[in-house]
Amino acid sequence: GPSKSVTLIGLGPMGQAMARVLLDRGYAVTLWNRTPGKVEELVRQGAVRAETVGGALDANELTILSLTDYDAMYTIFEPASEQLAGKTIVNLSSDTPANARKAAEWLADRAARLVTGGVQVPPSGIGQSGSYTYYSGPREAFEVYKETLKVLTGTDYRGEDPGLSMVYYQIQMDMFWTSMLSYLHALALAEANGISAEQLLPYASATLSSLPGFIAFYTPRLDEGLHPGDVDRLAMGMASVQHVVHTAEDAGIDAALPAAVLQIFRRGMDQGYAGNSFTSLIETFKAAKV
Ligand code: NDP
Repeated sequence: GPSKSVTLIGLGPMGQAMARVLLDRGYAVTLWNRTPGKVEELVRQGAVRAETVGGALDANELTILSLTDYDAMYTIFEPASEQLAGKTIVNLSSDTPANARKAAEWLADRAARLVTGGVQVPPSGIGQSGSYTYYSGPREAFEVYKETLKVLTGTDYRGEDPGLSMVYYQIQMDMFWTSMLSYLHALALAEANGISAEQLLPYASATLSSLPGFIAFYTPRLDEGLHPGDVDRLAMGMASVQHVVHTAEDAGIDAALPAAVLQIFRRGMDQGYAGNSFTSLIETFKAAKV
């Protein structure tokens, strides 16, 4: 049941932040970590050290994992398979949706259930308001332990499919890395022209802040699969990207990132979308690779 007692396995920066917040909120926390030294400071703060993985599992109905990936879970649990029966595992490690689904089956074979979670904040955001984690897996298991999970971050339950939390997580990462690289590339271009990161900040922020408006405008059209060229045309967009590539080349910086964007625009042109909106590139992305 929802007792204030939990096992936590994995004490990287994230797991350590989670352990501290749980202890602060008065939880009894049993810890196990591959590198035992990381447990010591937390034991001084009131945590209990489990000598074995089996002991860690036995200590509570709920075990939270914070590991590098799902492979680490198998490495840790394999020698303690017997102790898994009847347990709920909440895995807050990030990985692919497919690996999360496989892990749910692997645990089901050992009579344990898996709730998956994709944490949306760095360790400093654990226990802070406004932070959240995507969850998926059996709703009933999620509901039983929701109060405990809410100690770590806000919760956003996405559905029964254990892969869903990772689908949402990876969608966010897809946007995050591409956007942050676009920012770094723009900064390289700015610096080549004598503009510092500090000088760029208000301009970069204004550009990124304008994106939700664009997304909101195009969303109903995208859901209907319509890409009319009434507001923008792919051919115009391609000319614009070409200017970005040339500006980068003229500045003597690496143009690989906008060149990759240009290549995708070209593919859309080849597919006949010149007169449609650049949003028709969604069709280019969805088409299976040649
Ligand atoms: P780390 O990679 O630093 O955490 C590693 C933890 O996994 C350690 O406890 C480590 O043990 C353990 N581990 C890794 N491989 C094995 C193995 N083969 N066998 C046993 N234990 C293993 O990650 P973080 O703490 O930074 O993050 C944890 C998870 O949270 C990751 O999945 C990450 O993607 C996700 N996340 C992290 C964020 C961040 O900003 N840090 C933000 C959002 C999500 P040992 O101590 O012995 O090395």
